[in-house]
Amino acid sequence: MATRSVKGALIHYHEIALKGKNRSFFLKQLAANLRMASRDLDVGPLRRPAGRLFLEMEEGTSWEELRERLSQVFGIANFAAASRVLPDLDLLSKSIEGEISGRRFASFAVAARRAFKTFPHTSQEINQVIGARVKLASGAKVDLSNPDLTVYIEVLPNEAFYYFEKIRGPGGLPVGVSGTVVCLLSGGIDSPVAAYRMMKRGCRVVFVHFHSQPFADRTSEEKAIDLAQRLTRYQFASRIYLVPFGETQQEVVAGVTSRFRILVYRRLMLRIAEEIARKDGAQALVTGESLGQVSSQTIENIAAIEEATTLPIVRPLVGMDKEEITEQAQQIGTYDISIIPDQDCCSMFAPRQVVTRATDKEISLAESILDLGPLVQGALSAARLVEMSSPA
Ligand code: ATP
Ligand code: MG
Repeated sequence: MATRSVKGALIHYHEIALKGKNRSFFLKQLAANLRMASRDLDVGPLRRPAGRLFLEMEEGTSWEELRERLSQVFGIANFAAASRVLPDLDLLSKSIEGEISGRRFASFAVAARRAFKTFPHTSQEINQVIGARVKLASGAKVDLSNPDLTVYIEVLPNEAFYYFEKIRGPGGLPVGVSGTVVCLLSGGIDSPVAAYRMMKRGCRVVFVHFHSQPFADRTSEEKAIDLAQRLTRYQFASRIYLVPFGETQQEVVAGVTSRFRILVYRRLMLRIAEEIARKDGAQALVTGESLGQVSSQTIENIAAIEEATTLPIVRPLVGMDKEEITEQAQQIGTYDISIIPDQDCCSMFAPRQVVTRATDKEISLAESILDLGPLVQGALSAARLVEMSSPA
């Protein structure tokens, strides 16, 4: 390394997730995701100094843009726009002095960490030495409780980093470390949030959307694609299956008592999603169900719906209320898409009354009129697959 400093994003991850063998798997995935997230930006090599990642920035790299991207990479605990220098107090000091000369601040603090014990100075000594030099160069006073500027320093065996702002990362686990799931994505508010929460726990999410074309217009399909595209910024590449469901629903309407129709639709959706999951190597299904939100989501009906598939169904929103879900939808930018009016397949063919406590026996009886295998296969063979990526 030359004596000049190198600029880049210094990235910290949560050590807690990194027990034993998982460590290298986690780091490899996080590194791959960082490269994906920044692939259209002018960034340099990605290095792995002890316990951290450092993504070098080129001359023209926009920090604002890179910052935005990093805030979407799960697994990052916090990050900073940092400078990298040799682990030498004098060099460190000179470099810091050079960088603060253009800044205005009346008070400051130095927060140094020595990440290895053989460096000849303790953290406290580094604070004092650098603090004295910053004070002299700037004329500002030391204020440890409420400084205008904090100089963060991390000294590692082969290099040292310094930066002035520590930015909170999104947390979670890198997408890809927890396998693949299939999310039933309606055009509503809830299921996009459910997908987001699974991504945050490290899952790659494949989307499935059911629509009622040709009986309805294309709005629900377009919304689902927009939602998937919005969510793709967290997993960089997505697949969405658009499954025509109108004919299937017509058969249900023709043969099933109205009180059971919603449950029968849901069970058919799960069966179709299960086939897609097996084809795409997914290990579970995800829905946006939240306990008691609507009559199809009583605990009895959740049980009756679930019985249609042997795959585990994950419901990340089950214990959240609508307000909490809506708030999260706003934060992740799906809310504005979700509230666009559409012709949702289930409300189009919705009966007025829905059974609130269906038993397995009643459901089986209600379904017995249907030829399930061909219905599922027919919908599957008519499904359209759309692939997308982010950055596009
Ligand atoms: P959301 O806001 O996600 O639409 P909701 O509160 O409207 O949920 P329901 O209509 O009971 O609840 O749907 C429950 C779940 O079933 C949804 O969260 C979603 O996972 C799935 N689902 C419902 N309709 C569709 C659809 N047209 N395509 C794909 N999945 C669907
Ligand atoms: Mg809905």
